[in-house]
Order: sequence, then structure tokens, then C-alpha cells
Amino acid sequence: MTAAPEGIERDFPLARLTTVRTGGRADWFARPGDEEQLVELLAWAHREGLPVGVVGSGSNLLVADRGFRGLALKLGGELVAIERDGERLLCGGGARLPSAAAKAAGWGLAGLEFGVNIPGTAGGAVKMNANAYGGQLARILAWVDVCTFEGRDRRQPEQLGFAYRSSNLGAEEVVARASFLLAPGDPAAIGATLAAMRKKRREAQPSGIKTFGSTFKNPADERAGGRTAGQLLEAAGCRGLRVGGARFAEKHANFVENTGEATTAEVLELMAEGRRRVYQRFGIELEPEVQLLGDVRWPGGWEL
Ligand SMILES: Cc1cc2nc3c(=O)[nH]c(=O)nc-3n(C[C@H](O)[C@H](O)[C@H](O)COP(=O)(O)OP(=O)(O)OC[C@H]3O[C@@H](n4cnc5c(N)ncnc54)[C@H](O)[C@@H]3O)c2cc1C
Repeated sequence: MTAAPEGIERDFPLARLTTVRTGGRADWFARPGDEEQLVELLAWAHREGLPVGVVGSGSNLLVADRGFRGLALKLGGELVAIERDGERLLCGGGARLPSAAAKAAGWGLAGLEFGVNIPGTAGGAVKMNANAYGGQLARILAWVDVCTFEGRDRRQPEQLGFAYRSSNLGAEEVVARASFLLAPGDPAAIGATLAAMRKKRREAQPSGIKTFGSTFKNPADERAGGRTAGQLLEAAGCRGLRVGGARFAEKHANFVENTGEATTAEVLELMAEGRRRVYQRFGIELEPEVQLLGDVRWPGGWEL
């Protein structure tokens, strides 16, 4: 093995970097502060044949209990900056979306209001094509700078293969910067929209719990009759259902809650049970929205 770039840590616990707080350790971990460091780390991992996993806010991420036998990256320094350039908002890939939405409002820039309720980073939101309340990430995204082991390249939204909660970015393609093209507006009015959106969210979803948000994608299957994954889980009797320390939240059945000391294995068992119940009742196969990191093994009952 060649010498690891400076700043790399060994055996790093990942649970605390996720909002659900489960899972094991990464063999290697680093916090690149600029694009140069990021590319250097990606190149090193590539030479060593190590898989790479980038962790944003960990708000839609489930880490295997056995951990991750690769290099986990968490962006820092310049890569979390939020700046204004005229009507554009330039965000580091690791910039938090709610902060970006609040800053944009303060600068009188409209269009990113939906980001106030998405507790992820700009990079994670691009990777996941995150949306809320009709806000469309793709509509305001001007470009992204993507780093790979070979360097950096700028991509346009139409190159990102956006579909429902997905993009074509691979695990070793890291969003280092994103530019959002916003529209001038009245800061007070934009601020009021943010407040209304926060309120609406508080009424609809549990707050203050350890969760990764939506567990399953809303199915396109016509047997769902337009019902969301949460409505199907609820109708299949999953609200409050528990496996060990993991349970489907009382307020929103598509949210898995870590009630204390849940393991990832318990979360997976619960997901498998929810999926089985929805399949038995409606014949619909729910697909996970939550992203997996490491050697995640689905329990026996996962395949329907
Ligand atoms: C309470 C709650 C509410 C939520 N509400 C919404 C909602 O309304 N709408 C919605 O769409 N989502 C929602 N989510 C889910 C989540 O916030 C989004 O999917 C978010 O975009 C994930 O960003 P993240 O930075 O946390 O990514 P992570 O969860 O850390 O990672 C998710 C995926 O993105 C990848 N990734 C992260 N950063 C980068 C990067 N810089 N470059 C490339 N890939 C990267 C990871 O490798 C992983 O594959 C919610 C989650 C919670 C906990």
C-alpha cells in the first residue's frame, strides 16, 4: 500500500455522521477542504483499489453494522462554503441546504425555498435529486463541479440523468460545488415562505427523532392508486411497528425511527417486514429510497 495522503484517519465511527445514528466504522476517513485535496484522496483510493463513499449530512444514509472497508469522505473547508455571485448561489458540495435556503432568502434570492426542509447537503441533494413541496432542484441548478480520481469536470443538469430521487452520479463521483440560478425577490417575502414551509413540515412529520427521512420511494405502480409509500405502510398496519430499537414512526409510517440503541440490522428487518406487509396487502414491491454504505445484508424475508 502506498503512503496515505495526510489527514486520513483509520477506523472511524460513521454512525454519528448519520441522522439515524446506526452502523459501524470506516477503515479510512478524511475531510477534504478543497478540490485539490479531494481529487488527491480519490486518486489514492483508486490506486489502492478502495471503494469510496461520500457522506453528506447522512440524512438519507444507512451504514452497515460491519462498517465500510473503504475510504469515507466528509467535505469540509471551502467545500462547505455558501456564496453569492449576482443572482447565482454557489454552494460547496458539503454546504447544508437549509443554510443555503436561509442565506439565499437573506440576500433576496428566490427559488431555493424548498431546501429549508431538506436536512441534507447540496451534493447529497444533487445525487438524490431531492425535492419538497413542488420545488425542483433540476429547475434551478445551473451546473455542478464533479471531482473524480482523474480531476474535476463541470456538468450541466441535463448530463446528470435526473429521475425520481436519483441521478447518474456514481459512488466515486463527488459533487464539490453546485451553482443555483435564482431570481431576485423581496427578502421578507422569501423569509415568510421559509417560515410557512417549516410550519407545514412540522405538522406533517415528526421532528427531533433519529431518522433518515423517507425509507421507501413512492411507488409508480398503478395498484397504489396514487397513495404514497407512507400511506401504504400505514394501511398495511406498519405505523408504530417495532423491531428492537427501530420502529416506523407514529406520525409518519415511511419514517424509520431509532428509538435508542437500534442497529442497522434491526432497521433492515423492520424495512423487510414493512415491505412484506405492503406486498401481501397490495401486491406492490416498495423500493428503498435510503442509500446504503458498506456491506449491508438484507434479511432473509427481503426478497418477495
Ligand atoms: C427529517 C428528514 C426529512 C427529509 N425530507 C426530505 C424531503 O422533503 N425531500 C427529499 O428529497 N429528501 C428528504 N430527506 C432525505 C435527505 O435529506 C435527502 O435525500 C438529502 O438530499 C440527502 O443529502 P445528504 O447530504 O444528507 O446525503 P447523505 O444522506 O449523506 O447521502 C445520500 C447519498 O448521497 C451521496 N452524496 C452525499 N454527498 C455527496 C456529494 N457531495 N457528492 C456526491 N454524492 C454525495 C451519498 O454518497 C449517498 O449515496 C429527508 C431526510 C430527513 C432525515
